[in-house]
Amino acid sequence: MKIFFDALGCPKALVDAERMHYFLQKESHSFVSLPEEAEAIVINTCGFIEAAKKESIDVILNYIGLKKEKPSLKIILSGCLTERYRKELLANFPEIDSAIGARDLTKIIDAFDHPSKNLLDGGEFKDAHFTDERSLVFSGYHFAYLKIAEGCNRNCTFCAIPLIRGKQRSRPIESIAKEAAFLKDQGVKELIIISEDTISYGLDLYQKKSLIPLLKELLKLKFDWIRILYLFPDEELLNLVYFIKENPSICRYLDMPLQHVSASLLKSMKRPGDPEYYLSLIERIRKEIPEIKIRSSFIIGFSGETEDEQQDLKTFLKKARLDRVGFFEYSREEGTESYSLTKNIGKRVLRKRIKELSAIQETISENNLKKMIGKEIICIYEGIIEEKKSKEYLVFRSEYDAPEVDGVVMVKKPDNLDPDNIDFVKIKITEVIDHHNLGGVEVL
Ligand code: SF4
Repeated sequence: MKIFFDALGCPKALVDAERMHYFLQKESHSFVSLPEEAEAIVINTCGFIEAAKKESIDVILNYIGLKKEKPSLKIILSGCLTERYRKELLANFPEIDSAIGARDLTKIIDAFDHPSKNLLDGGEFKDAHFTDERSLVFSGYHFAYLKIAEGCNRNCTFCAIPLIRGKQRSRPIESIAKEAAFLKDQGVKELIIISEDTISYGLDLYQKKSLIPLLKELLKLKFDWIRILYLFPDEELLNLVYFIKENPSICRYLDMPLQHVSASLLKSMKRPGDPEYYLSLIERIRKEIPEIKIRSSFIIGFSGETEDEQQDLKTFLKKARLDRVGFFEYSREEGTESYSLTKNIGKRVLRKRIKELSAIQETISENNLKKMIGKEIICIYEGIIEEKKSKEYLVFRSEYDAPEVDGVVMVKKPDNLDPDNIDFVKIKITEVIDHHNLGGVEVL
């Protein structure tokens, strides 16, 4: 069949989409770049917070509209939304031909070979889909994500991920290393390690946190860069920082979602910490690697959040001087422990709080970026963008920027340059472009 694949959601879902694409390709299905040309549409949905659920539903409705014009069009759903709401989806959208969930991606083949409405047996989470190879169709120019585990054993009270993805199931180091070798052979330069709770990798499988033994294996493959995402701020983090310090090909970059800093709020989120604990952790990290860049994210508007707690966070941001920060609206999710909490914060107050925090952080991020001016840094090529008056810019990322969430480094495109032969370039930073991006010139 001719398939159009729409991959929504986070990098972990993107890896799932590439696996399903690979399985379907092996079954001799072909892929088209426009939904109008397709005989079947596969939508890998996202479903962990309100905004993501809404986006997935809008996309589904869009293809149902297309099916009205082309009744033979097959619509197949996979991913987190179908794990949580398969019955509701199939009941409300009779146009959907199959829903396969996220616990066994090999079911995507059945969705074509033995089409039936509900292919989600609700059974065990089978990780048969942890294959050595996949289609790198949704990955970046020179980077690819590598998923090292599924699920999570932590019980943050606001989080639906354990409901969707189950308990943590770490992949054996050998299996991960095989897939990494495949990615290396495909020309991937930047390997990005992901899972729900990366710092706890191996605890379920080897009875001890084993991210560092895994990294030792992956370093043997000599990727130019290894980047690590989704790091829970626990005591193991400092061991990882010492290891990063000794291994220059691991990006000097930490993605460490804190979610909040107020001790009382963190307690009701079932997360550790308080402002002093996190400030001292950040200080010790920077003492080990002064140039390291730290990204974090915070949930705003959690049940019962007070103005004092908002103030705690403002004070913390000014002291912590983080490099990159995302602020997310609290999403009250069925099935989570905090769903029953009733002291809900109104949207107007919630958005006012996010606005206040974003204003503080934008100034901090911009001032941190200004410290890069004059520095020469190695950057990886991402592509070309056309700016005002059709001036073309080459877009790069430094080791301090993760794809899709952080900023870029822009360099005016020299006339006689063939972008297909660029990977890493040394760039001298000359300016800060808003609070997010940098501008520079190539150091020849
Ligand atoms: S660690 Fe992350 S994935 Fe796990 S429960 Fe907490 S927020 Fe959810």
